[in-house]
Amino acid sequence: PEESISLLTSTTSSGKIGELEDDTISYFIKKKLGVWCKQSRGHWELGTIRSTSGEEASVLLSNGNVMKVAKSELLPANPSILEGMDDLAKLSYLNEPSILQNLKLRYSKEMIYTKAGSILIALNPFKDLPIYGNDYVPACRQKFIDSPHVYAMAGAAYNEMIRDEVNQSIIISGESGSGKTETGKIAIQYLAAVGGGSCEIENKILQTSCILEAFGNAKTSKNDNSSRFGKLIEIHFSAMGKICGAKVQTLLFEKSRVVQLGSSERSFHIFYQLCAGASSALKERLNLRDVSNYKYLNQSDCMTIDGIDDVKKFQELTKALDAVGVCKEDQELIFKMVAAILWLGNISFQVTDSQNLIEVVDDEAVTSAALLMGCSSQELIAALSNNGVQSENSTIAKRLKLKQAIDTRDAIAKFIYASLFEWLVEQLNKSLQVGKKCTGKSISILDIYGFETLQKNSFEQFCINYANERLQQHFCRHLFKLEQEDYGSDGIGWTKIDFEDNQECLILFEKKPLGLLSLLDEESNLPKASDLTFANKLKQYLDANPRFKKERGRAFSVRHYTGEVFYDTNGFLEKNRDTLPSDSIQLLSSCKCELLQFFSKVFSQTQKQSNSFHTAALDSQKQSIGTKFKDQLFKLMRQLESTKPHFIRCIRPNAKQLPGIYDEDLVLQQLRCCGVLEVARISRVGYPTRMTHQEFSGRYGFLLSEANIYQDPLSISVAVLQQFNIPFEMYHVGYTKLYLRAGQIDALEDKRKLVL
Ligand code: ADP
Ligand code: MG
Repeated sequence: PEESISLLTSTTSSGKIGELEDDTISYFIKKKLGVWCKQSRGHWELGTIRSTSGEEASVLLSNGNVMKVAKSELLPANPSILEGMDDLAKLSYLNEPSILQNLKLRYSKEMIYTKAGSILIALNPFKDLPIYGNDYVPACRQKFIDSPHVYAMAGAAYNEMIRDEVNQSIIISGESGSGKTETGKIAIQYLAAVGGGSCEIENKILQTSCILEAFGNAKTSKNDNSSRFGKLIEIHFSAMGKICGAKVQTLLFEKSRVVQLGSSERSFHIFYQLCAGASSALKERLNLRDVSNYKYLNQSDCMTIDGIDDVKKFQELTKALDAVGVCKEDQELIFKMVAAILWLGNISFQVTDSQNLIEVVDDEAVTSAALLMGCSSQELIAALSNNGVQSENSTIAKRLKLKQAIDTRDAIAKFIYASLFEWLVEQLNKSLQVGKKCTGKSISILDIYGFETLQKNSFEQFCINYANERLQQHFCRHLFKLEQEDYGSDGIGWTKIDFEDNQECLILFEKKPLGLLSLLDEESNLPKASDLTFANKLKQYLDANPRFKKERGRAFSVRHYTGEVFYDTNGFLEKNRDTLPSDSIQLLSSCKCELLQFFSKVFSQTQKQSNSFHTAALDSQKQSIGTKFKDQLFKLMRQLESTKPHFIRCIRPNAKQLPGIYDEDLVLQQLRCCGVLEVARISRVGYPTRMTHQEFSGRYGFLLSEANIYQDPLSISVAVLQQFNIPFEMYHVGYTKLYLRAGQIDALEDKRKLVL
């Protein structure tokens, strides 16, 4: 029976959970071993089997009840000695209830980090824990490099970068509110501590978070400090391993938030910080009022965040801007733009005739906005009430209808804010510029919003979820495909582990001309098209795709790797086109404000560029948002593919953002989405460290006491292993590479350090 159990544990390699077989069940009965017993509503309860008859088992639950269940509803539980293991791969039984239980137990003891083989699972504690800070850096650096901690993972990336001279990446994923951004900051904090040199570049890097968050984060229903953009921070190091620069790339900025808010959500923090924290002199210069006076902000019922002091935050922001070298004049320009946007939002329109044509109400909102933007009230009014229509040799001003006027006003506000954000990122990059002494080796940290499934999903979710499909493929490739191919080609016996390939879904999005993105662009270029004609087109061309599902009316569904998601195409075309009326651009370029002039110049340039790219193509317009995003994503993926990845999966243990609550359903659903089960299985049978014989002998060969006997890398490698008594079950010698079990390489590194 002992044997059948070990067999059982090592062969449960399929995506399914291994079930208890008859002889194992009798062993479990005899030894009173624990089993998980499925309850109604999908929960699992711990118990012991008392007896069986036919397909049924009678189980004594830990709560004292006896329950009759089908044998197929039972799963083996781990012996209590394995409770709360720091690596899921160390569990004997890797089924869902065992993993859930293990994480739960650890969470209750404030052990929020757990490994699953090579990946790190991070449960959001929703409270400050005393496990960070400079006191903990050296600990993670030396003895605990294998322990489950962000520091340890960042440390591993750092060491590998130095050792192998390969760029590294730390890829953080998870739902909104799961802790990605905080985790990223913790990783950077560690890297700043170990890679800190004499210069103040580390401090600048740490300050960028504060600035990016003020302008790019907002309170949402899921997270009080939700990042509304994805970001990749590249940290560059010198040959000595010292930080010598950094670069921030952002993608998919959610600019619609400037003009539109859901209930109990806020706009970007800066609006509230500025209104609350500006000095009275600054308030006067910007004609600033309390937040409740601004329509862009008061359309939501939420103006403050519990426990957050916007005044203090504003002070921190200006300090951070000082630290990265944004001068006071530029700071004033930035705040001017923020105030201008608030006043723009207060501009109202009057319908003057039966055709719904409008007039701009010439009030304080107009004069304040115009003053801040550096144009006259008349110019602003003209741009908001007319649209120039090109005729043969002149432009005729055509009055706008109410909806058009509101859209124009909002488009200007969104454009200014998004441009401001981009410009700020550029300023940060200039300040963090990679110095000449850099070797070009870097560690990139990716923090991008995870999969989103709302009740009604729009264009934003469409883009986010598409990006997550790409990232998922990257993850799968690395952890499953490459791993398995490697073992296979190197002569190592290996049971294949199934994993879900999402290639099909990517094809649904990316195929030309009949994929979601192409069809969206095509429809966006037809003047008469609407969201409904777009939805109908999808149904016409994509119905045969197994990942696509028709829905009624304007909607459709996609079968993502996380499950089916329902999209409503309302607004898709407009959001994808992202046009700004030519009158508005003209207005902005004629404004006295330098920033606005600059923004409109950049806009015209990118428009020209994409025009020349697409002369032959259908779209003579500027590049669509969907296509631009796809290009950015491809660039990002290429960049990531040239690095050694380290994955962190963040988990949101409850939806209330409160400490100490572990919602099993919520956690399970997230674990299923991120393939944690499979990774842990692979790692248990796997050899996480692998080096070619060349690399290995080159690095450790000099440790041999009789160095000259051996010539070829393979013999040298084997001799090293023997000399240091590495147990034979801890390594495998492949045709081209040496495979080592977790932890073995560290012992050798220690020996090496002693000698060097
Ligand atoms: P995400 O970026 O995934 O949306 P955040 O990183 O913004 O989520 O985390 C949401 C909130 O959770 C944070 O504002 C913070 O209050 C809390 N949090 C996340 N990670 C930690 C941590 N390691 N320690 C303490 N609090 C955390
Ligand atoms: Mg975030």
